[in-house]
Amino acid sequence: MIGILGGTFDPVHYGHLRLAEEVREALGLAQVRFIPAFQPPHREAPVASARQRLAMLHLALQDNEAFTVDTREYDRGGPSWMVDTCASLRASYGDRPLVLIMGMDAFNGFTRWRDWQGILARVHLAVATRPGATAKGEATGLLAERGSTVAELERAPAGRIVEVPISALDISATRLRELAAQSHSTRYLLPEAVREYLLTHRLYRTNL
Ligand code: ATP
Repeated sequence: MIGILGGTFDPVHYGHLRLAEEVREALGLAQVRFIPAFQPPHREAPVASARQRLAMLHLALQDNEAFTVDTREYDRGGPSWMVDTCASLRASYGDRPLVLIMGMDAFNGFTRWRDWQGILARVHLAVATRPGATAKGEATGLLAERGSTVAELERAPAGRIVEVPISALDISATRLRELAAQSHSTRYLLPEAVREYLLTHRLYRTNL
């Protein structure tokens, strides 16, 4: 099975890397493909450019053979709709099971994503749950209907949902941008090569 982790990665940090690592291990994923959004449609424009966010991901993933930067949203340009990305991944990987990784917060808004049924037709979901995180609203019904075991995920290319308990790392890109803007230390919150990139390029120093 192949894992997919979409995000803004503005910048990538240890919260992302631990999420990918814990889900990779729990599901026995052959690889996790990190897909930076070129233009995230549901939030404010990123601070770092798409090229800079891509460069930081390359630095963060360079020492892990199981982690890959996937540039398809960058290459496609325009708004990065996940359903388009899933269609493109499905075209690349035939019938192999694909697993889109997301946190419970993201899953709770999933039924508001553009053509979420089209997404589930093409990939499984792995919903990473930190202690205390639960499904809410429409997500509860979806989980009840599609909730599966890891073994069931392996038997189908798409359409199932598995919950994966993960440890909580209280790190966010928003917090890192705030720290950098105030010239505070970001050490030990993100890979050292990414921290050096922030310093060299004076990223997040003037605007949050
Ligand atoms: P921002 O603070 O700018 O909103 P972020 O740190 O949440 O950014 P994103 O790039 O938006 O990072 O997140 C990509 C994915 O990583 C999402 O599915 C999100 O739930 C997950 N994620 C982000 N931070 C963590 C963390 N500390 N632990 C577990 N998952 C995380």
